[in-house]
Amino acid sequence: MPEIRAYITDDNGTRIPGYREIRLAYRVWRQSIFPNFNLRDFYEIGFQTQPNCWRLALDHKVQEAAETFVGEAMVGLTRDEVRYLARKVFLEDSPFYKLLTSIPKAGKLFDTKPVPGSSATVCAAKMMGKKTGILSLGFEEFILGHIEHHGLTSYFDVILANRLAYLDGKVVGIGRRVEEKGSAMERILSDLELPVDGSGVVFVGDSELDVPGFRKVEYPVVVASAKPEFKEICRGNPDFGSRVFIAADGYQDIRARFNLD
Ligand SMILES: [Mg+2]
Repeated sequence: MPEIRAYITDDNGTRIPGYREIRLAYRVWRQSIFPNFNLRDFYEIGFQTQPNCWRLALDHKVQEAAETFVGEAMVGLTRDEVRYLARKVFLEDSPFYKLLTSIPKAGKLFDTKPVPGSSATVCAAKMMGKKTGILSLGFEEFILGHIEHHGLTSYFDVILANRLAYLDGKVVGIGRRVEEKGSAMERILSDLELPVDGSGVVFVGDSELDVPGFRKVEYPVVVASAKPEFKEICRGNPDFGSRVFIAADGYQDIRARFNLD
């Protein structure tokens, strides 16, 4: 059983099923009188969402869709408003959680409830003295709000993700810190004083966007919820050799594999 040094995870699609950017930004967009959040979720999310973004999302360009939502919805908000949103609005808190997440295809895209076992795994890694981190193309503001909401703030040593860009105290767009996950992973290895060859480092991901990060670590891990085609591609990727691990039964598989129980 390999002795690992660090446990790094992707966020959207890996640690949580969907994209909180979609959920959050959508709710801002729908709410003309900010910050009164008395929404009738079902009607708004089911029938009034921006068609372009949903088309992108359902076309599996979810990252683009999330960014489009943020680009349209967050511009003009103040830091305080962004902070408020990033800490208050999660689908798992909605009384309609079950109903909304059961919407075919779309339900999963805005499900922000941590995947069962994902939080326990990072907590175990941290308690056992491993270095821990999140590497995401999503937005740091929302990740911070979400892990605080779930009591996980102290379990992550580093969070490398994109940020909103501000001018005169208001959001003007996206401040990109992660162009792709290869160079971003190098930065994490350096920030956490890990070996530059990624030895002893686990990176858990779910999609093609994680592959550049997989190349930089010794132990690429594909979550159970990843698409079957993606799992096949990773199994057959000569760059990964026998190092890639497909966690077929979920996070308990990951904990067992890397002795995190
Ligand atoms: Mg992902």
